[in-house]
Amino acid sequence: MAKPKFAIYWAASCGGCEIAFMDIREKILDAAEAVDIVFCPCIMDTKYEDVEKMADKEIDVTLFNGAIRSEENLHIAELMRRKSKILVAYGSCASEGCIPGLGNLTDKKGICDYSYAESPSTRNPENIRPQTKTAVKEGDLVLPPLFNYVRTLEQVVDIDYKMPGCPPVPEQIWAVIEAVLSGNLPPKGTVIGVNPKTVCDECERSKDEKRIKSFIRPQFVKDADPEICLLEQGIVCNGPATHAGCGALCPEVNLGCRGCYGPAEGIQDMGGKLAGAISSVIDSDDEKEIESISRQIVDPVGTFYRFSLPSSILGRKV
Ligand code: SF4
Repeated sequence: MAKPKFAIYWAASCGGCEIAFMDIREKILDAAEAVDIVFCPCIMDTKYEDVEKMADKEIDVTLFNGAIRSEENLHIAELMRRKSKILVAYGSCASEGCIPGLGNLTDKKGICDYSYAESPSTRNPENIRPQTKTAVKEGDLVLPPLFNYVRTLEQVVDIDYKMPGCPPVPEQIWAVIEAVLSGNLPPKGTVIGVNPKTVCDECERSKDEKRIKSFIRPQFVKDADPEICLLEQGIVCNGPATHAGCGALCPEVNLGCRGCYGPAEGIQDMGGKLAGAISSVIDSDDEKEIESISRQIVDPVGTFYRFSLPSSILGRKV
């Protein structure tokens, strides 16, 4: 019997999701035995034309990681949708926008102006900017044009599942591969590779009433109590609104949950929910004091919307 055909693609992302896929360790041999990987530019030399020549729906499952930042990302998203029976938004960039999505705090011009002119480490007296086409003696070099903003995979094509995580943890990746192989898949639209409830439910720290008088940034914490909830110690932790699934890895090593597993069930706007949850534990009735304590959270957008800005109600800076 022919093996199911599998593809893994990498759009606007750091590549951590591919590394996480390799991190399933010796199970990679079981995966290689069970599926035929027909397209994965990260580990094998397949050209876009090879995929274009395939019949529609010829690929059984595509794990698509990365957000949609460029025309090339969009072209391949549409191509993989056409060629795949099941399309999974794999990892936080594809599911929610993730770190590339923080680019939505400005626009293409703002990003290029800062990167090629204004940043403290840039020296570019001739104001040279990347071009979409550059003629060299060997021929034309081309770069795909960038869009003004970042979108999630779901915002450009129909998807079957979302699998959050930056990156997803190997145990969850293997669980998803097993589900695909067994055909035991949940209804379309389900968030897969997660556990029920929130990171707080997976976190083994003791939890008590939260009354916060000040927040402290993790790099300045010298002696966090390893047993007590980090939030109760003034360390911002996004566990209360983040989908369970990672095993509470960050709180386990004294770091607040950053929220990479996306919004827990029933939460529409993760950043808004987190801002509400964290501000509700500030221990004061005095407006000025509440404001001064809140201001200790440096970069609130980067803290609460770090992984979800393009998929949030705000979406981008207007
Ligand atoms: Fe654990 Fe963070 Fe939840 Fe506290 S807020 S219980 S540290 S996940």
